[in-house]
Amino acid sequence: MSVKTYSYPIAARHEVQDYDRARRDYWEREPCQCKECFDAHVHGVPQRFVPIQARGVDERRCRDANQASYFCLGEWLHGWQLRRWLDAKAQFRAAFGRVGPKPMERGPGEDDA
Ligand SMILES: [Zn+2]
Repeated sequence: MSVKTYSYPIAARHEVQDYDRARRDYWEREPCQCKECFDAHVHGVPQRFVPIQARGVDERRCRDANQASYFCLGEWLHGWQLRRWLDAKAQFRAAFGRVGPKPMERGPGEDDA
């Protein structure tokens, strides 16, 4: 148990429930059907749970009253926010390819046998 976690504020019950549900569902939930989501062409895309950023940099950290660990408060993206998140993700993938291990190249004289 880290002493540092005690410096974070205690999250509200609904914030802990939102976070737990998002984590359990791998940070996604059903698509939103609001007008903004239709306008942004994301009405068929799962909403995405992301950490809330203060001033674009810091995550809002807090802790569950019953646990020593901390987590970052989050929010569900939809509409134009979700559109920008998806576009940024696509740009990242285009620039860096799929994240994951690549097969090792074989050296001279190495084969399957
Ligand atoms: Zn929406």
